[in-house]
Amino acid sequence: MTGPGRRPLALAAALLLVAGCAAPATVPDDPPAPSAAAHGEGITAAASATSPIPVAATRPPVAPPSDPIGPGDGAVARPVPTRPPLLLAPDPATAAAESGPRPLPRCRYADQPALGDPATDWATIVLDTIYRLPADYVPERLVSTSRAGMQSGYEVIPEVLDDLEALHQASIRADAEVAVRWAYRSYAEQEGVFAMWSAEAGRERALRISARPGHSEHQLGTGLDFRSADSLTPPWEYEDWGKTDPGAWMRENSWRYGFVLSFPRGLEEETCYDYEPWHFRYVGREIAAAIHASGVSPRRYLWETYAAVAGPGGR
Ligand SMILES: [Zn+2]
Repeated sequence: MTGPGRRPLALAAALLLVAGCAAPATVPDDPPAPSAAAHGEGITAAASATSPIPVAATRPPVAPPSDPIGPGDGAVARPVPTRPPLLLAPDPATAAAESGPRPLPRCRYADQPALGDPATDWATIVLDTIYRLPADYVPERLVSTSRAGMQSGYEVIPEVLDDLEALHQASIRADAEVAVRWAYRSYAEQEGVFAMWSAEAGRERALRISARPGHSEHQLGTGLDFRSADSLTPPWEYEDWGKTDPGAWMRENSWRYGFVLSFPRGLEEETCYDYEPWHFRYVGREIAAAIHASGVSPRRYLWETYAAVAGPGGR
């Protein structure tokens, strides 16, 4: 997923272009522990103290396995708007006062409310280092990945299941079987993950490899970390999991099943995070195919196709 969409951005943030995320996390694989494991997405106490959004979130009970999934639930049926041309003026300051589409914001750290409703716009809502979900946002329904024929202990929104199962079966046929390493994470779990990386690698490094709480795609119930099925080693402990058979297969084929690589190599200035060959976001097959064809990062594609056309202040 490299392409012509990259452009030089003057990042104010410290750019720690250390390859990979190979921090010495020693954690059990199943089930995930909130305070350990995973690369991830979280926040420090200092940062959360500046946030006006209360930390909360009492999770509703997980839906029982007998819950039916309507045939029309999938994102596959979502209409895909015509994508506007790439914008050539990457200066959000001047664009802010205009009424037209807004260019992709430069990478920076803020806590602005995401533009959209995560319950209905989960396939298109932009979550990055600027835009975030409410602390108390929990998907209305979460179901076990075991319902896609994969391990239990991880959860996604129901819309992900059919394509997750198809992806898993295809990876088996390709002799590159993948397994789930992490899926839904609550705001509180993300706090723990970010705090862990900050303690382990320092805050500046943590910001490149982990999202602050509220900013993680895992909180949507559509973000998944994958690992090789034949090894319990977390993918971030490899020098480059993308060079394993499952990692390479995912990079080339995940989009066919509605999953996009959120943080591709070479687009770090656009995604605002280091390359993460294991982290994928489910957006449905149509949007995933469009992102794949665009050659730009999911962040840029979703911004320019959906958020930028909402007008100043979003909606
Ligand atoms: Zn992830």
